[in-house]
Amino acid sequence: MKNRPDYTLITATADMHTATHGNRAKCLQRLVRLGLPVPLTAALSFDAVRQIAQGVVPDLAPLWAEFGPHALVSVRSSSQAADWGGPGTVLNIGMNDELAEHLAKVHGRSAADQLYVNFIRAYAVDVLRLDADEFEGPLTPRIAKEHFEDEAEEAFPQDPAVQLREVLRSMARAWEGTTARLLRQAQGAPADAGLGLVVQRMALGVGEGVSGSGIVQMIDPDTGDADVIGRFVPQAQGRVALRDDDALYIRSDARGHSLQDAAPEAYHDLIAAGALMREKLREEMQIEFTLMNGQLNILDAVRAPRSARAAVATVVNLANDGVISRGEALSRIPPFSLGQLLHRQVDAEAPRDVLGRGIAAAPGAATGKIVFSSTAAQALAAQGEATILVKRETSSEDVRGMHAAQAVLTERGGMTSHAAVIARGLGLPCVTGASSLQLDMRKKTLTTAGRRVFHEGDVITVDGSSGDILVGAAKMIEPAVGGAFATLIQWADEIRDIGIRVNADTVEDVETAQQFGVDGIGLCRTEHMFFDPNRLTLMREMIFAETESDRAAALDRLLPMQRGDFTELFKRMQGKPVCIRLFDPPLHEFLPSDRDGIRALAEALDLPVSRVAARIESLQEYNPMLGMRGVRLGITVPEIYDMQARAIFEATIAASEGKNPVVPEIMIPLVSAKREVELVKSRVDAVAAAVAAQNGKSFTYRLGVMVETPRAALRAGEIAESSSFLSFGTNDLTQMTYGLSRDDAGRFMSAYVQQGVFVEDPFTRLDTEGVGELLLIGAERGRAVRPEVTLSICGEHGGDPDSIRFSRIAGFDYVSCSPFRVPLAKLSAAQWVLEDETLPAKR
Ligand code: PEP
Ligand code: MG
Repeated sequence: MKNRPDYTLITATADMHTATHGNRAKCLQRLVRLGLPVPLTAALSFDAVRQIAQGVVPDLAPLWAEFGPHALVSVRSSSQAADWGGPGTVLNIGMNDELAEHLAKVHGRSAADQLYVNFIRAYAVDVLRLDADEFEGPLTPRIAKEHFEDEAEEAFPQDPAVQLREVLRSMARAWEGTTARLLRQAQGAPADAGLGLVVQRMALGVGEGVSGSGIVQMIDPDTGDADVIGRFVPQAQGRVALRDDDALYIRSDARGHSLQDAAPEAYHDLIAAGALMREKLREEMQIEFTLMNGQLNILDAVRAPRSARAAVATVVNLANDGVISRGEALSRIPPFSLGQLLHRQVDAEAPRDVLGRGIAAAPGAATGKIVFSSTAAQALAAQGEATILVKRETSSEDVRGMHAAQAVLTERGGMTSHAAVIARGLGLPCVTGASSLQLDMRKKTLTTAGRRVFHEGDVITVDGSSGDILVGAAKMIEPAVGGAFATLIQWADEIRDIGIRVNADTVEDVETAQQFGVDGIGLCRTEHMFFDPNRLTLMREMIFAETESDRAAALDRLLPMQRGDFTELFKRMQGKPVCIRLFDPPLHEFLPSDRDGIRALAEALDLPVSRVAARIESLQEYNPMLGMRGVRLGITVPEIYDMQARAIFEATIAASEGKNPVVPEIMIPLVSAKREVELVKSRVDAVAAAVAAQNGKSFTYRLGVMVETPRAALRAGEIAESSSFLSFGTNDLTQMTYGLSRDDAGRFMSAYVQQGVFVEDPFTRLDTEGVGELLLIGAERGRAVRPEVTLSICGEHGGDPDSIRFSRIAGFDYVSCSPFRVPLAKLSAAQWVLEDETLPAKR
């Protein structure tokens, strides 16, 4: 083995690491160690490539000499993580007049000419960035060299070392380009990520016998099922050739001639290589190979491309076959990728009104209101609205807007454009390259090829599985989440050490969450039960009641409805804890704000419009989120909480069965003082005693506090005296800690994150330093007074991996998140356990 500081030959014993030479170089070394037929390859380290980018190119003659006479080489990129990308492969370096003559003698003139033209074209266009149009169409080497000379104003270089130097320099510089940098940073690469390069002797793929190139993988990329999938093109080179119409299937196939028929021995060797890699590299690989007169050469192997669904199936299969552990299977799945398995699909049977089509860039479908900016997506998301982010193309500034949207639609771009890459990472449906649509970003309109015009706020559906964009809300099919997915989640359940509950207000939410299994309901926002049209009228009557008895009458009619709601939830949850939050929002949210609505309400209540308008006016507040809401309403209009408590206790009796008594949890929102809790507690206790006496039944319940104000966190000690549990409502707590409106922050959040004021939107990722400190103080003071107090997070952060980690380290009992976040939360909770096991120092 000859090693020089500038390059390292990839041998079984060479000093080769992913962190210094990149994943491709390391993988090739593994293939060499397995005894697979890999052509001679040398690797350039990150440092060497960095120097080349800065213009310090080493003497390449010794490297070239390694490959011997008449060699052609390829150069491939080798970044630290495969998904950080890298410049494309360049083949046939070393091709010149002399070698062309030699190859013509061995393989025939036409093969030699083809290789030569291919290289001149690649060298001109990809390396020197000359105009591609000049090298289009059929060319002879002589004409190609003439075009080259015209464009480059120099002769086509004949010295292989010069060719190699220029290739290396161009690839090293491409890595430093802004687009490449943005794309890899979107994949989590650090700003200073390095690029390695591998230089490999070409196995030509042209010549006598069965010669050609191909790729193969042993799993179906959509399902992950075992299969032999790939293509082989005779007398061809590189991946590009695989798009050729003459490509053969790999395995004997009714659809046509196959590699298995043409070269059974090579086929056998390929299958054996795939099995060996699976076992020893512990991964399903995609193999790039060349046959030279029937002889197999393995040029490269990468992780086999796969959908999120196939990724889950693959790790579960590998673990079931004992190739990897269950822990490793769990660790290999990025939590956010689960979104792709969970997303809904448009019902293919239902009628569809297609307004345009594009590239199906990320699977799943979603409906929402059109927005033309990330700011608008964030602003509407803060109000709980579903949006579709529509842009010409996206950039890194849009990532937070994409987080806030339900789907992304871009006029430009393709499968690997920024929008596509990010959307897949986030599990968002995405359609790119919808070029028949005209966007007018100023007027905020989207015009179809048929001249239909859509405006911001119009509802559309993006089908990222088919590429269709549909008018309105399309009929959807719920995702299937059984099989390998269910197995993986079950393994996560076995490992995780923090509870995962769901934020669920409706039976539908509970049904969704129960597909994944949950430890309970962590937050039932009861006000959502009052927006039903029938109930809304009763709510309004209650708000407009002038006397206590009028109010009591309205509440009496709401009581059975609430009792029904809670009974249903308790029954569905089958004894698992259900935490019901007492009424939280300001009352005026239930009242109409426009003239038509006020007139309709006046009619319904049989009151003059002026009286209704005046009453609405009197309920208006300057800062409603800091005003008469939550426990403040509970104390000033106590009948509402009385009614809810009664409904909860009566439902408790109705849903309890012999040995399985329901133990409801009642949570008081927006507390800031101990006395608030005492006042509510004494009334709730009184209602409980009354319900028990009236029904001749006993039951227990737990009363707790939602810690959403900084003061509640600071005074958690005394608050815990009357509270069985403290659940941190991190949405409001973030709002109040920062003094930052959760409904308005979207307007400037991008600017703030971009300029590094906030590392991330604190409403998405828990601010572990500030809000986190309040959580820790609250937990410590609460526990000091009541050691057994149950602690949890129930804001949106409950479904965020980093916040789950924080909660786990802080010793919280559970996190509660929205239904579709439950699998992600479980997986990430399990991953933190595994990470702590392997990296104890981190804890
Ligand atoms: C919270 O404030 O964190 C919370 C969960 O309650 P809501 O979002 O309903 O205000
Ligand atoms: Mg809140």
